[in-house]
Amino acid sequence: MKQIIVIGSSNTDMVVKAAKLPGPGETILGGTFLMNPGGKGANQAMAAQRLGESKVIFIAKIGSDVFGQEAIDGFKRAGMDTRFVLKDGTAPSGIALISVDEQGENAIMVAPGANANLSAVEVAVALDACPEAELVLLQLEIPLDTVERSVVACAQKGIRVILNPAPARNLSDEILKHLYLITPNETEAELLTGVTVTDLDSARRAARILHDEKGVGNVIITLGAKGAFFYNTSLELLVPAPAVAAVDTTAAGDVFNGALVVALSEAMPLPDALAFACQAAALSVTRLGAQSSIPSRAEVNAALG
Ligand code: ATP
Repeated sequence: MKQIIVIGSSNTDMVVKAAKLPGPGETILGGTFLMNPGGKGANQAMAAQRLGESKVIFIAKIGSDVFGQEAIDGFKRAGMDTRFVLKDGTAPSGIALISVDEQGENAIMVAPGANANLSAVEVAVALDACPEAELVLLQLEIPLDTVERSVVACAQKGIRVILNPAPARNLSDEILKHLYLITPNETEAELLTGVTVTDLDSARRAARILHDEKGVGNVIITLGAKGAFFYNTSLELLVPAPAVAAVDTTAAGDVFNGALVVALSEAMPLPDALAFACQAAALSVTRLGAQSSIPSRAEVNAALG
């Protein structure tokens, strides 16, 4: 079992559901309120913890406030190693204010808070304290400079880096050439390659740019309900998504990435790793919420048959 480290964001999602979204200056009464742990880093770390057998190390930054404390308590309850969930003395914990109307349409404002203060030096110190680490999973909700320098530091240590390039941002060739694996969705793949990804053919063209031209070791483009496309020098593979009745696709990508890193840590062959990640993500879309939708290992195994 290879040691997994997730480096990324932790947010608290504050969700108000109401009849309609407010316009500028408008107040809408009669809503209901829900508070959920979120942030792509935390969601992916939780998915890896729930689906795997090893203790996931999470490197993140929260504020010295009640939201940060709630988040860290949740990570500990799940069994994660929280030594490197750092507390910021100046910024509050990351918050997402989410409004949802009756049709499911949403409007979201994110205040990254302490996430924006996770520095490359802090990550480097944490990585140095984890010489056994073999796999690192990152996203793009922390400063890009931290991501870039952490990717290079991992590559120098021989740690395989998986980057889920979400939310969509442009990336330097310096980051891309050091990646073992990149996992964009269709929108992110388009931003990174200029190819509009809609089907297998366009996914292949985008994957070729990332692999052949930019030097990414392996490419997986997630295609929503169509599944996931894998590409490297010796293998090209479309894994269809299991057909499910989708209820809420929030965090499907996070569950996919968390499951994938677990499969890689167990040295599953790539086709099996992809099938495992697709199955975990498919189960998650049949449930409401982000972390609350992560299936157990037993559920994924049972669904895989
Ligand atoms: P999100 O932003 O909703 O978390 P994403 O845009 O990052 O997701 P997607 O490509 O939409 O990523 O989904 C990730 C993976 O989740 C897909 O590759 C697929 O395996 C699974 N998935 C997503 N939607 C569905 C669905 N409707 N049915 C089955 N599987 C799905």
